Amino acid sequence: SSTPTTFDVRADFPILSQTVHGTPLVYLDSGATSQKPQVVLDAEIGFLTRANSAVHRGAHTLAGEATELFEDARTTVAGFLGAEQLVWTSGATFALNLVAYAIGNATLGRGSSRFALKPGDEIVVTETEHHANLIPWQELAARTGAVLRVIPVRDDGTLDLDAAAQVIGERTRVVAFTHVSNVLGIVNPIAELTALARAAGALTVLDACQSVPHLPFDFAALGVDLAAFSGHKMLGPYGVGGLLGRPDVLADLPPFLTGGSMVTTVTLEEANFLPAPQKFEAGTQPVSQAIGLAAAARYLDGLGMDAVHAHERALERRMLAGLREIEGVRILGDASGVERVGVASFDVEGVHAHDVGQFLDDRGVAVRVGHHCAKPLHTRFGLTASVRASTSVFTTDDEIDVFLDALAGVRPFFGVGA
Ligand code: PMP
Repeated sequence: SSTPTTFDVRADFPILSQTVHGTPLVYLDSGATSQKPQVVLDAEIGFLTRANSAVHRGAHTLAGEATELFEDARTTVAGFLGAEQLVWTSGATFALNLVAYAIGNATLGRGSSRFALKPGDEIVVTETEHHANLIPWQELAARTGAVLRVIPVRDDGTLDLDAAAQVIGERTRVVAFTHVSNVLGIVNPIAELTALARAAGALTVLDACQSVPHLPFDFAALGVDLAAFSGHKMLGPYGVGGLLGRPDVLADLPPFLTGGSMVTTVTLEEANFLPAPQKFEAGTQPVSQAIGLAAAARYLDGLGMDAVHAHERALERRMLAGLREIEGVRILGDASGVERVGVASFDVEGVHAHDVGQFLDDRGVAVRVGHHCAKPLHTRFGLTASVRASTSVFTTDDEIDVFLDALAGVRPFFGVGA
């Protein structure tokens, strides 16, 4: 059975035409960072060669053009993601820290008290979180006396919603959870988690890093308060990403970083801040990167996110079916009948993940090995490392087959198993 490819995009990605160790590159590491289509590279270079200038400053012509392109990029990316407001950040890690530090500032009495924490208040995360959506909350709890609580994951990789209903309660002030685990590829039950959080009156923070590149994403329809994402995982440039937020939430959240470009009036004693998004955008912004990211959003929109999701779902089914047939391979979170994106992590019994990665690289196949910045999740599955294969719009059936064929050779090569 072949993937019903509704688009053929290989030629749009110049990097894909190369060979590695004499064989064609099979890039299955888009979960770490995706490749970029030529239109994204052109957008950045085009801006830098024709309009580069400081935005929101200066009265000269180029500054005006740059400001317009930068704000158009904001509108394009926010619109693509179904959000009314978008704060530029350097990526998801920054966006999540921004929220945690802003809540910390509210707790210190800065700005509105709406999100201030009291000792004993609870912050809830899940066991599937990337460190970027775990450690900022650990640190916030340590600074404020709040308590961090965790929704556990079941053996099959799905979240334990019965436990979630116990963990989320009247002391819960923040619920931070990932849309899609970067290890398991399973789409978490956002509606259920959001309903529990809302009933508790808690703020909801979504890590959308691994969902926005792969499925139709509609921030407003999801019903969360805030969502973080990274441009470099959605075919865009490095150093840019964002925080999507409901206007009333961004209005009440105090700033994190302070400095230039985020103030109305300043005296030697104090400053007043601009409304969101500017109050969260102190200092010079990643302008050319934001413009590149807008090109990525237009590119994905042109393919159609329903088609992208269907394409990657078919690749995922092929990959999981193949992985299940290889002796000694154990998939992390092998739940069936759940919504997924094209990400799968697995353990090869008797062979270290790094050896598997090296073996595959020798055959041109690029995968990620290690704990993928989700150490607690690996501990939960009794592992210190796993191998992760992840797809993108440019991944083909043939590449999945090359990967599976190579992987089948790993245990025989290392003399493990029958
Ligand atoms: N959350 C998830 C689920 C991720 O996969 C990643 C990137 N691996 C991040 C957060 C952090 O993204 P960045 O490093 O781009 O800030």
